Amino acid sequence: MKQARRLDNAPPYLFVEIEENIKKALARGVDVINLGIGDPDLPTPYFVVRKMAEAIKNPNYHIYPEYDGCLEFRCAVAEHYKKRFGVDLDPETEVVALLGSKEGIAHIFFALVNEGDFTLVPDPEYPVYELATALTGGVPYHMPLTKENGFFPDLSAIPKEVIKRAKILFVNYPNNPTGAVANLEQYQKLVDFGLEHDIVVCNDNAYSEFTFDGIKAPSILNAVNAKDIAVEFHSFSKSYNMTGWRLGFAVGNREAISKLKKMKNNIDSGVFTAIQIAGIEALRGCEKFVEGMRKIYARRREIAINELQKLGFEFEIPKGTFYFWIKVPEGFTSKSFTDMLLEKTGVVVAPGSGYGEYGEGYIRISLTISDERLKEAFERIRKLGL
Ligand code: PLP
Repeated sequence: MKQARRLDNAPPYLFVEIEENIKKALARGVDVINLGIGDPDLPTPYFVVRKMAEAIKNPNYHIYPEYDGCLEFRCAVAEHYKKRFGVDLDPETEVVALLGSKEGIAHIFFALVNEGDFTLVPDPEYPVYELATALTGGVPYHMPLTKENGFFPDLSAIPKEVIKRAKILFVNYPNNPTGAVANLEQYQKLVDFGLEHDIVVCNDNAYSEFTFDGIKAPSILNAVNAKDIAVEFHSFSKSYNMTGWRLGFAVGNREAISKLKKMKNNIDSGVFTAIQIAGIEALRGCEKFVEGMRKIYARRREIAINELQKLGFEFEIPKGTFYFWIKVPEGFTSKSFTDMLLEKTGVVVAPGSGYGEYGEGYIRISLTISDERLKEAFERIRKLGL
């Protein structure tokens, strides 16, 4: 077939592969415990569902939505940002609604990266940064996130020729998959680097609300002069258990936001307005709900810490997100350990190698499962006698 070759070398999307493996195991009658996917197990809060049920009846919302998101939604985002991060945003020029943050993340690569340009992406990374780079014809430069560098990129290690041709730098804190959280000083370093070299700095802040041990995740826009170069992506999926609704937003540098808007306006037609209205309800009523979810994840995190320590696994205690980044035992690769676990215990985990070269030797487990099933998963692993 005379088709473009751009996708040929791209690996399948990691989570689609995991889903396929689960389907096969279920078909074999296995009682699968899925610790592989970061999809919150609890439902969207009822006050949001109720708002949606009301909003969907309004015929004014049955037409094409406003491309950039309705002004009411963008104002609610600005209000939320001021309250949560102390950052002022102009809803007209510095906010855009997204069909979930994933599409916005992919689209900003298309908006900013030319063929042959470098993109600076973390490794391990949320796989979308990699595929989006490949589809633009850009070249990813992988910034290793290791235990030694505190899972934060060493900017001084990036070669000058790469910096000269780089258009975009992506980070993701609180970090999927390592659980690291960046502080303001670290964000300032990234912003200063972006300003010095004219590279747009993006932070994927999907897990902003899930941090532990008294840490509160800042926004990259808290850094001085951040709005001159930085963009931040947010998702309703994790904070409000709304993965299926497809709602997110991007905020920050006006030029980058305007390019992202232009890109999106030509490709998608925006988010269903009734969903945005429900999203406003989530943003305005979120504090108590998010606090409750944080407690649930904190409890599961304690279970995982205790069990993993008892089992003798090597891991960092995550400061944020609902993931654990765990070293695989001697003698295994990420993939062989993942396959063995599924075959012998029915427990699904994500292989670290799916997140990049520096993910090899790790697995990621997710806390989006009940306490009982989480404990059972560890019990099954214990019985392996590793
Ligand atoms: N960014 C990160 C780091 C994620 O882990 C995810 C989802 O797992 C997303 C973005 C996508 O979120 P959304 O559902 O808003 O597209």
